[in-house]
Amino acid sequence: MELVFATNNLNKLKEVQALIPHGIKLLSLKEIGCFEDVPETQNTIEGNAIQKTEYVKNNYGYDCFADDTGLEVDALNGAPGVYSARYAGDQRDSNNNMNKLLDALRKKNNRNGQFKTVVALHLNNKLHTFTGICQGEITASKYGEKGFGYDPIFKPNGYNETFAEMDLSLKNKIGHRGKAITKLVEFLNSDETKI
Ligand code: IMP
Repeated sequence: MELVFATNNLNKLKEVQALIPHGIKLLSLKEIGCFEDVPETQNTIEGNAIQKTEYVKNNYGYDCFADDTGLEVDALNGAPGVYSARYAGDQRDSNNNMNKLLDALRKKNNRNGQFKTVVALHLNNKLHTFTGICQGEITASKYGEKGFGYDPIFKPNGYNETFAEMDLSLKNKIGHRGKAITKLVEFLNSDETKI
């Protein structure tokens, strides 16, 4: 089976490739000739994941899945949430985003938050979604060099290191994207995918 993974984010691609069985060939956006930015203009994480996968299906005709992720912080009423990428501005700079979040939490006692990933799959003209959540807390400063995005300031519950200090295999096992992709793989391996 061939499936497009609608992302230009090489870090996401690496995480997802490690979880997808060899029998499924992942195609990148570039491999199908999609060089433009895929729109993500909805106001929910789920809406953006669906929008990305439908864009690829409608414009390129490929079965496809896409993920959209947000960091929801309790003391900020769920912000930055769906706006996580542009939290500190349109340049989508991870360091600026983390600095803004650390500033916003400077005087807060409650530093709990969660990453939420929604994976939307367009397969055989049907749409499916899979959600993965990872709860944790926002650290007071940045730790670690691995991963991407907000990883250096997110410490999952039950662990004493941030995502940026963990190996990819552990982040994938306990993390939001890993959980959502595992559900996707279970679905792809099930009888439900047969037409
Ligand atoms: P998007 O899903 O690519 O729209 O990501 C939204 C924002 O969350 C971006 O700033 C990403 O860098 C960040 N992000 C997405 N996934 C992760 C992750 O697994 N760890 C840390 N940050 C992430």
